[in-house]
Amino acid sequence: MISPIFGTVARMRVSTGKATQSDGRMFTVVVEGFGVGLQRRAERRLTVPFSQLQRLMQTIALQGGRIRSISAEEVPVGSEPQASGSEAATQAATQAADAPADAPAAPPTPARKAPVSHADVPVNLYKPKDPFIGTVTGNYSLLTEGAIGRVNHITFDLSEGNLHYVEGQSIGIIPDGEDANGKPHKLRLYSIASTRHGDNCEGGTVSLCVRQLQYEKDGSTINGVCSTFLCDIEPGAKVKITGPVGKEMLLPPDEDANVIMLATGTGIAPMRAYLRRMFEPSERAKNPEYQFRGKAWLIMGVPKTPNLLYEDDFQRYLAEYPENFRYTKAISREQQNPSGGRMYIQDRVTEHADEIFSLIENPKTHVYMCGLRGMEPGIDEAMTAAAAAKDLNWSELRPQLKKADRWHVETY
Ligand code: NAP
Repeated sequence: MISPIFGTVARMRVSTGKATQSDGRMFTVVVEGFGVGLQRRAERRLTVPFSQLQRLMQTIALQGGRIRSISAEEVPVGSEPQASGSEAATQAATQAADAPADAPAAPPTPARKAPVSHADVPVNLYKPKDPFIGTVTGNYSLLTEGAIGRVNHITFDLSEGNLHYVEGQSIGIIPDGEDANGKPHKLRLYSIASTRHGDNCEGGTVSLCVRQLQYEKDGSTINGVCSTFLCDIEPGAKVKITGPVGKEMLLPPDEDANVIMLATGTGIAPMRAYLRRMFEPSERAKNPEYQFRGKAWLIMGVPKTPNLLYEDDFQRYLAEYPENFRYTKAISREQQNPSGGRMYIQDRVTEHADEIFSLIENPKTHVYMCGLRGMEPGIDEAMTAAAAAKDLNWSELRPQLKKADRWHVETY
């Protein structure tokens, strides 16, 4: 069964008479923000027979479209209703063929701006063969006394070239030096931690949040090549940068979207950029078209309190935007889950599963996950139980969310 909200059927205001399943009339739905690419920007008219109307509306709602009006046309007695209008109308109805015909009506989705056009997002402006050479302008530790490991915030000047990006993308870094075979090192991708305007809000910079990778092998400590290169780098150093890449983690342009963020450790990088865009005063001043007023809920996992990243900023946002920002921590080595084990973010998701699931049922809600892949099974388990409590099937719903561009995952 599909949730009435995942399959939101906008309350119908059919212009003439009462519709029945044997209704032979054609219905024209005027919709905005529906389809792919440029189609999403345009108002579209989709004409379908009554038998396909409900399915079409569910599909529109799932894909974040906004129904402007529905009107019925009389057809001559005895003529067979045929789907007409664009191919997409038929396709849309077909895609939603699994949806039940009896989904109850729910309020129409509120006004939304068209989602960010993926086609407009810059990718691969600089490739490994001809990388951009950025200059380090800052490199400082994000950790406080007693933290485990090293995590640094590193900023590069981009002003000499054409490297630009949007929140949620990544860049590649090619560390200096050669590998064991005498070949240049390969690039490593890092999620961008700054907004498109950079930390100084003037543009022309990019920042990363990097943990130095360290592991034990045969009794000795191995340091990650690129993460060590970056954590040790000095201001003024030149660095080979590629990209930007990635369209999986783009923030919706809707100012009233709800954004649930699940991050472990340095997986906070894109979330830090989103939160700056939403709440940092200098960013808000820079973005008159994006004055966030939805709900942002960050669930963040770190091993110890001194490992919390960007904590002062997040506390400031909490103080300034208590109605819009919520912040839940899972501090694995200080807190315990109900089974007595380490508190991970999937335990926090389980704790708040019904609330999170209800939020997800709202078509304005997007979920972002970044960090360790290990968090995913627990999150799925929590959502499966929350869905089952409403007689719904999470394994059916999750792909629908993904398709609607509302479930964003970048984990390693
Ligand atoms: P970390 O400090 O190693 O871990 C952060 C927290 O996650 C710790 O509290 C840790 O707990 C916990 N954790 C460990 N296993 C977990 C599991 N199975 N499920 C949920 N939580 C778990 O974080 P980090 O070193 O910064 O690493 C973050 C990871 O994110 C790295 O693998 C990095 O490659 C990845 N990352 C991905 C992206 C991206 O996808 N774009 C961006 C940045 C980082 P304990 O240590 O106490 O067990």
